[in-house]
Amino acid sequence: MTWLIVFVWSRSLIFTSEPLEMHKRWQVNDATGLLEHAGFSREVFVLRHLTNYRGTDSWWNAYQAHENAYASTNFPLEIVTLYPGFFEDPVDDTERAAILLHEGHHLLGRNEADALERTWLEKARIGWTRDRYGETKVFDATEETTFNGTTLFQCKENHHWDCVPPVVYHPGETLKH
Ligand SMILES: [Zn+2]
Repeated sequence: MTWLIVFVWSRSLIFTSEPLEMHKRWQVNDATGLLEHAGFSREVFVLRHLTNYRGTDSWWNAYQAHENAYASTNFPLEIVTLYPGFFEDPVDDTERAAILLHEGHHLLGRNEADALERTWLEKARIGWTRDRYGETKVFDATEETTFNGTTLFQCKENHHWDCVPPVVYHPGETLKH
């Protein structure tokens, strides 16, 4: 009985939303490729093989509040809805990869605080660092959400800067996850 409920629930979310247009699928594919290159194998596996991407909200998402302007994930149904902001606000594929990494954590069942913390700690692996992206809209928005949603910024000396030691980015280097 449970599987039937889950199946019907899942189908209803798919049928009441629009699929992602093909050129947007390619953008997702490019961003996922950056995550793969950085060694996020588990996240990439679910993003690439198990996720059903949607371009508009299902009835359930419309009924609930959006997580943010970029994307939202229905776990464990593995449905990711990508909003116009996901395609318009990032300055490049690296920023789209950072958003997908956050959703990838949700796809693996991680909660909001965990997804925020992991993405903030791991962002240098895809080269998404403050010195290169500190002024972008997506970086600013993510920093604010991470500031409010995690304890990463709560070090004694400075409350307006995260306490994460800077990581030197080496292009092409593959890090173990
Ligand atoms: Zn989230």
